[in-house]
Order: sequence, then structure tokens, then C-alpha cells
Amino acid sequence: MNRMVRIVYSEKHKLHADPRGYHPENPERLERAFKALMDAPFNKYLKVVNPPSPKEDLLFLVHNEYYVNYILEESRKGFHYIDFDTYVTEYTYELAASFFTASFESAAEALNTKEFIVVMPRPGGHHAGVNGVAFGAPTLGFCVFNYAAAAAKSLLLKGYKTLIIDFDAHHGNGTQEIFWNEGRVVHIDIHEEGIYPGSGDVRDLGGVNAEGTKINIPVVRGAGDETYLWTLANVIDKVVEVFQPNALVVSAGFDAHSGDPLTGLNVSDETYRAFGAYFNKLAYSDVKAVISVVEGGYGKGLISGLVNYVEALLSGQFIKPEITGKPLIREGALRDLKTLLSRYWGIELQV
Ligand SMILES: [Zn+2]
Repeated sequence: MNRMVRIVYSEKHKLHADPRGYHPENPERLERAFKALMDAPFNKYLKVVNPPSPKEDLLFLVHNEYYVNYILEESRKGFHYIDFDTYVTEYTYELAASFFTASFESAAEALNTKEFIVVMPRPGGHHAGVNGVAFGAPTLGFCVFNYAAAAAKSLLLKGYKTLIIDFDAHHGNGTQEIFWNEGRVVHIDIHEEGIYPGSGDVRDLGGVNAEGTKINIPVVRGAGDETYLWTLANVIDKVVEVFQPNALVVSAGFDAHSGDPLTGLNVSDETYRAFGAYFNKLAYSDVKAVISVVEGGYGKGLISGLVNYVEALLSGQFIKPEITGKPLIREGALRDLKTLLSRYWGIELQV
């Protein structure tokens, strides 16, 4: 344990709240997760920093002007819903822009300090695309500005080959749309099939000059550790070997955890430890920046999942469970994944 984890957090996130109190994306979820980290046995390796004041010009590197102004205007009106799922308050614009700025600047911080960076923003980010709603999603899915995309964009501008891994239970449609035609950003997204936002088919490969760089792994309801660990070993690790990224951005949502009220997945803390330990290993090879952005997680899994993830990120340690069963991925999807990996990456998937 010789590297530090820089936690980017601000109490101001409490100003983004539905006063009626029943929205699943509420301040308490992040407060509890932050407190659990602060109370963890490894807390001497954590350094908490506040996000900086917003640098608004940075938003236009990812989102278009119309959308940024729209969020500004809606935010000025005070608390209300801008779609069926997503609310803003008078503080939302500034808060999200401030976490966006922090995520963008995390790239330089990670490269300079060698610290692991964990941004803990509210509201969430990965569903927000260039113009807001991405890939025909019904709503913004609680998200306003895309922090993971901010971090990846910053790394890209510095010339780093960037890998995005999104293990939130929902497809990171906003992030994928933002880098759809960008072949230098590889995005691997594991998500539950058939739930919000409805995108993330294996056959969605990326746009012109970027085909094969967007790897979607939809898993079926009930999928748990075996499926996730199978994916880590057979897809993520294999793609990393070929792509050889030098920077990593993680959309770290913890809503695939068993018992999460918004999804039907069944992952335990062991999966999050495995991901953390794997990213630790990468950080000691050619990956010069590891930036995690916390996304979803609406039950106890956000707390235990995040604590286990950060601990393994620091220590590189997890107990490798036996993988015995087949991954819970639809047969047709698995066949398409096999074709994609073979055609674009020269990887022969064993299933
Ligand atoms: Zn999610």
C-alpha cells in the first residue's frame, strides 16, 4: 500500500436533492458511502479534496452549447423535474459543472501524483451524451454532465490511449455516444440487458473509423460474480493485452450488487474487489492514470462495493474465486461478442 487514493468529494452535493425525499438518487446514498470510506481501516491512504470552481469552457469539449445552456436555464428555475427521471435544483448546474471540472483536471493530477483518483459526484454522469439524452434513451437517467467523458477527453487531449470500463449495471450510453467515432478511446461496458436506457447491444461497435472500439457486454437478469469475473478474465484482460492502454477511466457504479432496488443483478463485493485489484495491477504496468468516477448504486451495495473496490485498488489483493459456471449472457449475444473480439481484436473467445 504505497499509493494514495484521492477522493474528490463535496458536502455541497446535498444541495442537489428532491425535497420530497423519495428519489432513489438522493444525498444520503453518497453521504453513507463517503462516511464508510472515511471509517475504513485503510483510511490513512485516503486524501479528500474538494472539486474546484467550475471552468465552464471545459463543458463544451464534451457537450454542445445548446445543452449546457439548457441545464443552466433549467437549474435557475429551482427544483423541478426536467424529465420523468431527472431533477435539477438551483445548485445542480454549478455542482455538476464543478465535478465535471474536477474529473477533467483529474487526468493531470493522476499523471503528476501517481495517486488513484476516485471522483464522488452527484448527480450521476454516464447517461449524459453530447446533447443530453443519448442513443434514444427515454430520459437523462438522473445524469446532467458526463464526468467519465470529461476525464477521458482530458487524457485523449494529452495523447494517452484511453480505456473506459463501465461496470455500472446500466449501459453508459452517454459516454459511448460521446466517443462513438473516436477510435483512440476503447469503451468496454458490462450492463444488464433489457433495463434502462435500452442501448448497449453487442452489435453496436462504434462509428466510422472506430468500429470494434466499443465493446458492449449485456448480461441477463440474475448474473453475478461468475459472469463479471469471466468478463474480466476473458474479455477485459484480453483486450487490454492487445490495446495496451496508457490511461484508464472507470465508470464505477455499484448497482449490479445483489439487492440493489433498481436492477436484477447479483454481484457481491468480491467482484468489486476483483476489479479494484485488477486496476491496481494495471497501474503498476503501462497505465499511467487510473481515474474512477462513482456512478449508480442505490442500496447497501454502494457502500460495501465502493469500500471493497477502493481497498483492492490500494492493495491489489483479492481472493480469486473458482469460476465454474458459464457466463449469464444470452447465447446470441455471446456469439456476437465472439465474432467482434475475433474480427477486431484477434481474440478467440473460449466459451
Ligand atoms: Zn446504474
